[in-house]
Amino acid sequence: MEETKEREKIEAPFTEEQIDNLNLFQMAGVMHGFTCGSGNRTDKHHKDGEGYLIATEEGWKCPFCDYTQDWAHSFMGGALHEEHYNFKNFKGFKKTFSWLSESTDNLEYKNIWTKAYIKGLKIMSLDEKNSMTDTQKTNFIFTCTMYKQKLKELGLKPMTIPHDKLMENGTLSLGHICGMLDKMIEFALDGKVDKAYRWLGFVQGVLWTNNIYSIDELKMHNTSEKEYEENL
Ligand SMILES: [Zn+2]
Repeated sequence: MEETKEREKIEAPFTEEQIDNLNLFQMAGVMHGFTCGSGNRTDKHHKDGEGYLIATEEGWKCPFCDYTQDWAHSFMGGALHEEHYNFKNFKGFKKTFSWLSESTDNLEYKNIWTKAYIKGLKIMSLDEKNSMTDTQKTNFIFTCTMYKQKLKELGLKPMTIPHDKLMENGTLSLGHICGMLDKMIEFALDGKVDKAYRWLGFVQGVLWTNNIYSIDELKMHNTSEKEYEENL
């Protein structure tokens, strides 16, 4: 009995593949995700009201407190098959991903969820036309997410300057690119790769002229673009 139980579990440290699969499982709507077991998840820090756990190398972590869990059911972490995913519930999958990503400001966590989400899209065969590799996509989305975070810290909110108008003053451009970043993440996920990088160039120009990042810093954010060009 005890032996069977052991076999049905996996324990931390989790492998990279297990991390993706576990987080994917959390989002895919197959069953209710693992949640914080601190007994205090209704406090204001557990923004989602449940404390959905995130799988990391060291095990599950609660993004909102110091609760951890070091095991998972083995079927959640390995040998995932298409039938594990709820194809009819793609909207729910997408929604849970956005909800988790917005629930915390932790960039490392956002990146982990994004990687798992991209893997899920691939399993669902929804990104066949996408010409970006998974790494390029992850890097691109990470860069957009980082810029979103930076602009949020500066107190900026998304806004759209009418395309046929000039700006009344230059700082409005930051609000405008704020609104572009969410769309850029969608472009990358939808495989609109040229449009994604064209917009990135525009956004980076605005970030530079507003003294947010130096050219060297912006170049460093562009690993994914370099890889893309090399592969053309
Ligand atoms: Zn918690």
